[in-house]
Amino acid sequence: QFMKKPTNEPILDYKKGSTERKALEKALEEYASKTIDVPLVIGKERITRKLEHEQVMPSDHKHVIAKYTWATEDDIKHAIETGLEAREKWHMKTLKERADILLHAADLCAGKYRMALNATTMLGQGKNILQAEIDAACELIDFFRFNAYFALDLEKYQPISTKASKNSMLYRALEGFVAAIAPFNFTAIGGNLASAPALMGNVVLWKPSDTAVLSNYIIYQILEEAGIPPGVISFLPSDGPVFGNTVCDHKHLAAINFTGSVPTFKYIWKRVGENLDKYVSYPKLIGECGGKNFHFIHPSADMDSVAPATIRSTYEYSGQKCSACSRIYLPESQWETFKEKFSAIHKQVKMGDVRDGSIFMSAVIDSKAFARIKKYIDAAKSGTDGAKIILGGKCDDSKGYFVEPTLIQVTNPESKILTEEIFGPVLTAYVYPDSEVESVVRSIKDATPYGLTGAVFSGDKDFLYKARDILRDAVGNLYLNDKSTGSIVGQQPFGGARMSGTNDKAGGPHYALKWSSPQTIKETF
Ligand code: GLU
Repeated sequence: QFMKKPTNEPILDYKKGSTERKALEKALEEYASKTIDVPLVIGKERITRKLEHEQVMPSDHKHVIAKYTWATEDDIKHAIETGLEAREKWHMKTLKERADILLHAADLCAGKYRMALNATTMLGQGKNILQAEIDAACELIDFFRFNAYFALDLEKYQPISTKASKNSMLYRALEGFVAAIAPFNFTAIGGNLASAPALMGNVVLWKPSDTAVLSNYIIYQILEEAGIPPGVISFLPSDGPVFGNTVCDHKHLAAINFTGSVPTFKYIWKRVGENLDKYVSYPKLIGECGGKNFHFIHPSADMDSVAPATIRSTYEYSGQKCSACSRIYLPESQWETFKEKFSAIHKQVKMGDVRDGSIFMSAVIDSKAFARIKKYIDAAKSGTDGAKIILGGKCDDSKGYFVEPTLIQVTNPESKILTEEIFGPVLTAYVYPDSEVESVVRSIKDATPYGLTGAVFSGDKDFLYKARDILRDAVGNLYLNDKSTGSIVGQQPFGGARMSGTNDKAGGPHYALKWSSPQTIKETF
């Protein structure tokens, strides 16, 4: 019944000339040379209609890689009905039967579809080879395998039986349907948001992000090939408010599995609150939102590791990981050393088209993101809040949405650039007097409403543990002497607290339980 603990999927290195590099290049060429029509999928139906929306390459925005249509309110309602019908059989299957489907999907991702997942994530979402591989291949595969493992493991936890009664716990599905609302920045997150509830017997309406439609559709097809029956997961690109309102207003809403912005998640909570008298059961609202993640540097930190770790955390995937570092606190005594070491690496950061295998980062996701990030950079250029551009600062959207990796220094610890989420390749530095190290650590905690990730670098273990204790409520994922990004499924379960989310720890041992409403059964015959 139980399965052996999986190991994390190894990262392929795609050396030039290697078999995997050639396969990836072929897939890139293939997906860059055509425009794919992505349908809505409801039950056995595939609907294309007028394909009025386009997914373009962020690094070459004239290039359309997919066309798709938005689900209407009627489509969404139809998907709910179809799902509820499919639920009848799906939730009665054993957990083992459903887990086997996910394990099969994981193998398909690791083999047959790995290059398609990576190529569409690179072209459509602007990732370089490594960033695509750790997301669309490794993390997705890990989510499927570890969720299956952790879910089966749950069945071990059974209540105590006595001579008088045999007691058991049935990990039932939630009653109703689950809506999965996925982000653009991790292909794997889309796959996880939709498949983890399905694993536990739920039916799911999956709304991919408009800017990640193609890679998410490939995952949908993989799940279908692996054996998810029609109707269990509907694939529904749609307008955010139309999708959100239709699912939130339905009496059979069982849960929302959300990754996205704080305002959208708050909107969902309010809408659900207004509808409370309508529902059959209390919907579970599970969400991961933004962050304003920090690197805190103690005077004793090893600056040779601080500089590259901060470059990676801040600029990999153009700072569009929810976990990306976007503020750094440095002691006066290390500021010059930091600038020197940081700018030496910064000079080598290569930005360009995703098909160029040597780039470190590419363009940001779309014109909206470009405009938002540029606004912050322009404010810094005009000296708002005493800000000063130290490195980078150029923005050019003529071909793709390119924003140079930027370092800004501020003198006001409450400045917007230091406290608001920018979600781009922009790092804001605040330099503190060495004598105030402890009070600055304390102040970080409440400097923003967020609580996602943070890192403390120090050569002094006692200080690290002290900072860990001070920052207990501050972040969901804390790193001591390592960068704030790069959580690995099964190793660093991921999620933020405060306004960063409900901290339900994707990739962790209890994630599957969120999608279950267990039933206790006492048998006395
Ligand atoms: N788990 C990812 C990391 O630690 C971030 C996920 C996200 O961006 O939501 O890098």
